[in-house]
Amino acid sequence: MAERAAQSNDRNARREQLASNLDRVRTRIHDAARAAGRADQPELIVVTKFHPADDVRFLAELGVTDIGESRDQEASAKAAELGELGLSWHFIGQLQTNKAKSVVRYADAIHSVDRPSLVAALAKAAASEPSRAGRLPLACLVQVNLDPLAEPGRGGALPREILGLADLIASSEGLRLAGVMAVAPLGEDPSRAFARLADCAALLRGDHPDAMMISAGMSQDLEQAIAAGATHVRIGTDVLGPRPRVL
Ligand SMILES: *Cc1c(COP(=O)(O)O)cnc(C)c1O
Repeated sequence: MAERAAQSNDRNARREQLASNLDRVRTRIHDAARAAGRADQPELIVVTKFHPADDVRFLAELGVTDIGESRDQEASAKAAELGELGLSWHFIGQLQTNKAKSVVRYADAIHSVDRPSLVAALAKAAASEPSRAGRLPLACLVQVNLDPLAEPGRGGALPREILGLADLIASSEGLRLAGVMAVAPLGEDPSRAFARLADCAALLRGDHPDAMMISAGMSQDLEQAIAAGATHVRIGTDVLGPRPRVL
């Protein structure tokens, strides 16, 4: 009995902690949007990688609808366990083509599309996955490498590769071009990096007016991302706390 009571106290404490962290992050998003003079509210994607499915349950009870994950094995297990909650799952990590078949089963959006071979693998997997029939086409965001010294093939498309990749996504059945995503490079003011991302987003919208998403901003730089027009922020640490080393 005492052990059960202690466990339930732990669960309550965790729930309270998530609730207050979430409140703080929602206030920051709101304040940042207001400071930027924006009438719209950026969407919050809570990044739960390395945290247990129970945390995702609490977050859903607290009104979170969008979950970000970056490892297929972990994400697919959580999505299967929590299927009844009706959450939207965003895949935000580097994705190997041999994981495409698994990811298309549960993901509603892939933020890390950065090369033609991945577009082809996702299109093929989406077309042959029975559970995708009747669902919306899989939203794909072109991940942009904002490091000015970036070399090709290091996670994220180079700015000059964006339009070609966008056309490929837009012309693939079962996929939908949704926008752009980026992580601010280390060692540079994130405001400057996110300004370049905004330019990339504008370029993309010139050819594809429906590709409205700008996925940018993490715990450390959500304010700068929102000032630069982010429509979706991806927040892990400031909601869930530090990531445990093992699950
Ligand atoms: C882990 C991760 C996040 C969340 O980062 P925090 O600093 O914990 O908020 C956002 N985006 C990507 C691509 C990530 O891998």
